[in-house]
Amino acid sequence: MYDFIIIGGGTAGLSSAVYACRANKSTLVIERAAFGGQIVDAPMVENYPGIVSISGAQFASDLFDQAEKAGATFKCEDVLQIVPEEGFTTVVTDCGKYQAKAVIIAAGCEHKRLGVQGEDRLIGSGVSYCALCDGAFFKDRTVAVVGGGNAAFSAATYLAGVASLVYIIHRRDEFRAEPTVVERTKQLNNVRFVTKAKVTELVGDDELTALKLDVNGAPQTLDVNGLFVSIGQQPENDIFAPVALDEGGYIIADEKCRTNIKGIYAAGDCRYKTVRQLTTAASDGAIAVQTALAELF
Ligand SMILES: Cc1cc2nc3c(=O)[nH]c(=O)nc-3n(C[C@H](O)[C@H](O)[C@H](O)COP(=O)(O)OP(=O)(O)OC[C@H]3O[C@@H](n4cnc5c(N)ncnc54)[C@H](O)[C@@H]3O)c2cc1C
Repeated sequence: MYDFIIIGGGTAGLSSAVYACRANKSTLVIERAAFGGQIVDAPMVENYPGIVSISGAQFASDLFDQAEKAGATFKCEDVLQIVPEEGFTTVVTDCGKYQAKAVIIAAGCEHKRLGVQGEDRLIGSGVSYCALCDGAFFKDRTVAVVGGGNAAFSAATYLAGVASLVYIIHRRDEFRAEPTVVERTKQLNNVRFVTKAKVTELVGDDELTALKLDVNGAPQTLDVNGLFVSIGQQPENDIFAPVALDEGGYIIADEKCRTNIKGIYAAGDCRYKTVRQLTTAASDGAIAVQTALAELF
């Protein structure tokens, strides 16, 4: 029986582990892939307060070291199910069962990919899924945003303040984004729309240089330095039932990171929130632990 089991070894999970261990609680972090989470893919992080510039891999490695030094235990296993019981929760993985008084779900979420040639190879070399994270690297350059929802327009508006030219590429000529947001974006003098268009291939050896498009059936090439894919995110939270999810599949948690089940908390990108960043993931980790300490110990 652990005091804390943390599901997911990304920024939210490892931050939770640091706080739980420093409160002298036995803490198990279960991660199914790479400790560090999504940020491992980021070539550079320049918006974490107090750290001027660091690679994503180094950030993740430092945070892992910090949690390990604090005393956390780690297991590389896939969590398949959680079962709330009287006064504790059982966590079932592909290798066994563990129990804890408090469980923090910090399972993150994945950005949907286009699934076209060149995409995987050029992630971090021109291809990004987060304008707020990587937009500043494209100052005075030409970028494209793929998507037609509010998130894509919000990315395009942010990028229009940084880049010299922003294309919004969308497969239809109507947008899911709110009409007022679309109209406001159309007023920006460095934003261009490419509609009825699908990206078919990303071009570039070491860095992205161009996009191949199918525009209304005709092939076209667009020279760009950056591509921001904003076609949605994929949380995989169904396995955490009976924890309640919103219609997008994100865990519903209050500002103290409490879910609908006593003793189960949610932290980081897996929960409903408006800003998904390292700072908010780390903040959730601290809050979830403090809430559990006050409620359960
Ligand atoms: C390329 C890239 C660049 C970015 N750059 C920045 C940046 O510069 N600044 C910034 O603030 N943010 C940046 N972000 C966003 C930032 O990485 C995320 O907001 C942050 O990582 C969220 O942390 P998290 O712990 O909630 O989730 P994650 O980092 O996604 O970690 C969740 C972990 O849970 C594990 N997991 C999921 N399900 C299970 C399961 N069933 N069993 C066991 N383990 C499981 C996953 O394998 C994963 O490792 C970037 C994201 C990407 C992809």
